[in-house]
Amino acid sequence: MPDIAREVARRRTFAIISHPDAGKTTLTEKLLLFSGAIQMAGTVKGKKGGKFATSDWMDIEKQRGISVASSVMQFDYREHVVNLLDTPGHQDFSEDTYRVLTAVDSALMVIDAAKGVEDQTIKLLNVCRLRHTPIVTFMNKYDREVRDSLELLDEVESVLKIRCAPVTWPIGMGKTFRGVYHILNDQVLLFTAGAERDSDVTEVIDGLDNPRLDELFPLEIEQTRMELELVRGASHPFNLEDFLAGTLTPVFFGSAINNFGVREILNALVDWAPAPGARDATVRPVAPSEGKFSAFVFKIQANMDPKHRDRIAFLRVCSGHFERGMKFKHLRLGRDIAANSVVTFMAQGREQVEEAFAGDIIGLPNHGNIQIGDSFSEGEALAFTGIPYFAPEMFRVVRIRNPLKIKQLQKGLQQLGEEGAVQVFKPLNGADLILGAVGVLQFEVVASRLANEYGVDAMFEPITIYTARWASCPDAKRLAEFERALENNLARDAADSLAYLATSRVNLELTQERWPEIVFHETREHA
Ligand code: GDP
Repeated sequence: MPDIAREVARRRTFAIISHPDAGKTTLTEKLLLFSGAIQMAGTVKGKKGGKFATSDWMDIEKQRGISVASSVMQFDYREHVVNLLDTPGHQDFSEDTYRVLTAVDSALMVIDAAKGVEDQTIKLLNVCRLRHTPIVTFMNKYDREVRDSLELLDEVESVLKIRCAPVTWPIGMGKTFRGVYHILNDQVLLFTAGAERDSDVTEVIDGLDNPRLDELFPLEIEQTRMELELVRGASHPFNLEDFLAGTLTPVFFGSAINNFGVREILNALVDWAPAPGARDATVRPVAPSEGKFSAFVFKIQANMDPKHRDRIAFLRVCSGHFERGMKFKHLRLGRDIAANSVVTFMAQGREQVEEAFAGDIIGLPNHGNIQIGDSFSEGEALAFTGIPYFAPEMFRVVRIRNPLKIKQLQKGLQQLGEEGAVQVFKPLNGADLILGAVGVLQFEVVASRLANEYGVDAMFEPITIYTARWASCPDAKRLAEFERALENNLARDAADSLAYLATSRVNLELTQERWPEIVFHETREHA
């Protein structure tokens, strides 16, 4: 019998979040370098010569011709098992991107220091804030001309509403980037340029006042000493408790492409980020070191190739010891699942998983009977909570070319909606179905799956909707009045929950003002 508590304590499960082009892929590759073994599925694969290149993820991804949804990578570092979850951006941005954040215990935020806080980072941080997820920050690209470091911290604090505790501080930037000063260790780590440098050997000089620094780069070190005076006054000292509460982020500076400053963030994640904790479920919270296996689904990846209809459900293990061949229960369907075919995301491609513990992610191939938010256990009837649907930001009206296919369309959208591929809204006034998503890719996926799996040729047309808010009210009579009065703006989603579809931000605000008794929710829990 494995020591479950020990296995849990040495696990770290985090997501890497950023705006596209900030350096997420580059940083991921460098993080994996530290694991020694290049054992991963996902964005990066080993190549000859110790270099890494982005590659397709599993066969599915190749068939789809797009880099789908998040990948999961597991590696060992300093006696720890690290699970790194990617949050896909660019055209891949979707609700899955948000939901990945429900499956992690901490997040690494990468910021392009030349640009500062960008749009997608704001969205992702909003989700982290809902869950009080601890955040480690990496300011990237100091080998380039970047913005003033204090100004960057200021921006993070004011825009992302999280206090900054710089742990390292940059010395120079661009052509005169000399390294970083490690504030907690009182050491200077010297930067040696060299793109794609694989070595993790860094020269270290003890003490900020060390005269060697004045010999090496008098101008930059003087500037750094002055800045640090300001930093001490203007920022916050690192404090583990506030970090774990998600109210303070340790900030590191460096250059991912030069593999500089990367080891420090990995150490921070291992030393400070939380191990898997208890998870809320209906009935009772579930502790990670409990003997019995339990897990929930946070993401489903469907195969676009009609020849391979299988889907993979991504399960976050919440407790117990998963072993290959064990049986567990799919609680919503009340059905046993023999987990012979469960896959892990450790190697280049799918690999049978032998065992897993809380914090690990396992993949379960299925034919469409698993939904986002589904829970699994060895028998106890518990449903994990906190795997929400997020308010869509993009909307389309669905029309079909062949009206005889209306039944298939409805069935297809019902299933795709339940699966979490897209949100489906039925307007109360009986108008055409409306789809909601947080990324355009979701519409493309749905159109293609409707055609392939349901034989429906659907057209998606733009519609002026700004956002959706799920509406509830303790007073049933008032809610009924609300429904009657605003019939043309209200719809029911796949789970029959009432949603207000606002035509603009102003429209939403006015409605909220006029109907103070109605609660407008930005997320909806899995039914
Ligand atoms: P992602 O979209 O966040 O995954 O970003 P990538 O890792 O693909 O990086 C985007 C671009 O920034 C690429 O051209 C990288 O080579 C470049 N890049 C990443 N890190 C650094 C860095 O530390 N310095 C410089 N100068 N460029 C970088």
